Amino acid sequence: MLRLSPSGRLESSCWWLATARPPLIYHRCVLDLNTDVKYVKGVGPKVAEVLAEKGITTVEDLLYYLPFRYEDRLNPRGINELKAGEMASVIAEVRGSGLFRTRRMPIFEMTVGQGRSTLKCIWFNATYLQDKFRAGQTVSLYGKVEMSSRGETRLQIMQPQFEILHDPVDDGTAGSVEERKWRTLETGRIVPIYESAGKGRLTARWFRRVIHGMLERLDGELPDAIPAVVRGQMGLINRKSAFWQVHWPEVGESLRQLQAARTPAHFRLIFEELFFLELGLELKRRKMRAQTGVSFEIHDQVREAVKRILPFHPTAAQKRVLKEIADDMREAAPMRRLLQGDVGSGKTIVAFEAAVIAIENGYQVALMAPTEILATQHYLSARRILEKAGYRIVLLTGSQEAGRKKLVRHHIAQGNAQLVIGTHALIQESVEFDKLGLVIVDEQHRFGVMQRFKLMKKQGQPPQQAQNRRSLGTPDTPHESQKRRFSGAPEDAEPDVLVMTATPIPRTLALTLYGDLDTSVLDELPPGRTPVKTRRVADDRAEEVWEFVRKQVRAGRQAYVVYPVIEEASTDSELKAAVKMYEQLRKRELAGLCVGLLHGRMSADEKDATMAAFQRGEIAVLVSTTVIEVGVDVPNATVMVIEHAERFGLSQMHQLRGRIGRGAAQSFCVLITGGKISPEAEERLDAMVRTQNGFEIAELDLQLRGPGEFFGTKQAGIPEFRVANLLRDRDVLELARAQARSVLEGPNEHITQQERANAIVHLKSHWNRRYGLVEVG
Ligand code: ADP
Ligand code: MG
Repeated sequence: MLRLSPSGRLESSCWWLATARPPLIYHRCVLDLNTDVKYVKGVGPKVAEVLAEKGITTVEDLLYYLPFRYEDRLNPRGINELKAGEMASVIAEVRGSGLFRTRRMPIFEMTVGQGRSTLKCIWFNATYLQDKFRAGQTVSLYGKVEMSSRGETRLQIMQPQFEILHDPVDDGTAGSVEERKWRTLETGRIVPIYESAGKGRLTARWFRRVIHGMLERLDGELPDAIPAVVRGQMGLINRKSAFWQVHWPEVGESLRQLQAARTPAHFRLIFEELFFLELGLELKRRKMRAQTGVSFEIHDQVREAVKRILPFHPTAAQKRVLKEIADDMREAAPMRRLLQGDVGSGKTIVAFEAAVIAIENGYQVALMAPTEILATQHYLSARRILEKAGYRIVLLTGSQEAGRKKLVRHHIAQGNAQLVIGTHALIQESVEFDKLGLVIVDEQHRFGVMQRFKLMKKQGQPPQQAQNRRSLGTPDTPHESQKRRFSGAPEDAEPDVLVMTATPIPRTLALTLYGDLDTSVLDELPPGRTPVKTRRVADDRAEEVWEFVRKQVRAGRQAYVVYPVIEEASTDSELKAAVKMYEQLRKRELAGLCVGLLHGRMSADEKDATMAAFQRGEIAVLVSTTVIEVGVDVPNATVMVIEHAERFGLSQMHQLRGRIGRGAAQSFCVLITGGKISPEAEERLDAMVRTQNGFEIAELDLQLRGPGEFFGTKQAGIPEFRVANLLRDRDVLELARAQARSVLEGPNEHITQQERANAIVHLKSHWNRRYGLVEVG
């Protein structure tokens, strides 16, 4: 247990605290934000190492270690008010405790009370608690309340976090001034609770005391790099008060606002963090736009060429978006535009139109897709749509045979190839272009955000190569880009970049991840689409589903059947796997139909052949894993059966469903569920049945999975916020973005040159690395 000795130092029976007690020389009376955290009273070199694991190395870092919740110890809850199922904190008196050994594990049980009401506390495997508690102690507890399974106590609290607030036995020895001070800070008020650190060695109480001491020693006002006019407009309190109040809320602060991170102190810190993020993104955007790009000309001949390729009348949304793109392309500044549109909204044709503008101006276009299937599909449709205009189109993917690749690269370098379609191979294999004017990245999120930045940085030619060559695959040095900018020749210009995403991105994420891009939205589906009918079916009724598939195929339609895994995993034999089900379906349920198989472990050639056969209608039912998730376009396919739908993410299922409903015929999505369905899975399935709106689904998916998971596990690039939370702070993000943009409009009557410069300096020294914005200049 942790107590204060008469000298006021923290003492403990734990070895580490004993050794970590800092020698006096480490105490600095006056601290500033950059002071090494080891000099903070109560820390020292040993504990500093523990803190470093949490990324805390300075006073400032420790200030940003915010309480994750607060306990109201002024108006504690009565045991009688507690309800089963809630997370609750209670203050009560220890009545008795004991260790019970069940057959499975030791259980530590404690009974606490307030007057005549009692509550049981249960900890599993907690022999270490045996000597912790004594009757008569006052404890604070926090945990999940449940109905008690036995005994006369009505409720129990499971594995609660606890703190011993008062121990009558200690009273004689621990009555020092300092201890009395702590007692007033830790009881009878709202108290901050911190995540413990160092495997529980640094407790909430430890953080409380160390951070309080640190705040007291913090010298003077803290520098504030947010311009005065912004502080005024946003009503920001000063930084130091914000830190004080967020750690030690003033009397009268609302517990609800604290928990929701909506006190003035929280707002100040969240705004600050998001303001500098948006400032960085906006600077980056401006820096890019200040470079020399290509000014494409759009005269009648170009317009005619664009019109001629169109196989159908574009929707109003497609027209509007093309105009936004064309306007960018006409300007001298390089285009950096994000095109968002739900599955099936018709992004491809817009991309081709942009490509025609570039090609007609004598430039080359690179179109990158995340998978070989998609690259190949784009290649085939590009040939169908564009080749009649006489454009020369090539395909470059990683799996092509070396001789072929060499030849293709030669054509690209010579400028013979006008439209180059490919996978990552385009970035990875240093493809050299003769005159690259436009880069289109399709289904962008698959590339990962970092790759996007890499791509954009890589359009410069490496020094050893000829002046008029440019490569997608060799890093651009600042020196090189300088050189190109000053030379001013059109060949040296930054190509335009159009990024297209298949998954609608919730606005908060779009603002954080793509805040440096301009955005266009295709918010209208092409005409003649009938909404997909979506149903849920339990797997004991699968036979009806197969009957339905047979009927659709007899009517001339095609179907997808998707499984979560390729092969049966030994650990989870319940899970149906694509390969096995393919064998079964073609022999039994779908016997007589032409069934194909597609999964990620097949070779690129096999995949291509299968896809092509499906496209031609030779395969009626395609059994697959999620490799077909993105972009695949076969309008005659009207049925999407997803087995083990409970296993799929929401956006993923939405993508899969986006493969159907592409023609005029009624399409059907059947979600077959089997096995245990978690409450979250229920929500996902409900949403699928309820709505087909991609933006709504994306928002819900973000709520369910959180920003880190939204794009899939491998995606980095979402900044690690210290205070802000993208789900919670969307409104603040919008404010921060507007303010950051207006600050960069300065200097003007609101913002002085000095203020603008200060903000940028602060951004570079404090936030760039954290946000991966190192390039911002
Ligand atoms: P996505 O935005 O998902 O990439 P696609 O570009 O693949 O969508 O388009 C989906 C389908 O809609 C394709 O079959 C395409 O030919 C068709 N399509 C696109 N725009 C129109 C339009 N304006 N009128 C009719 N069909 C269209
Ligand atoms: Mg597409």
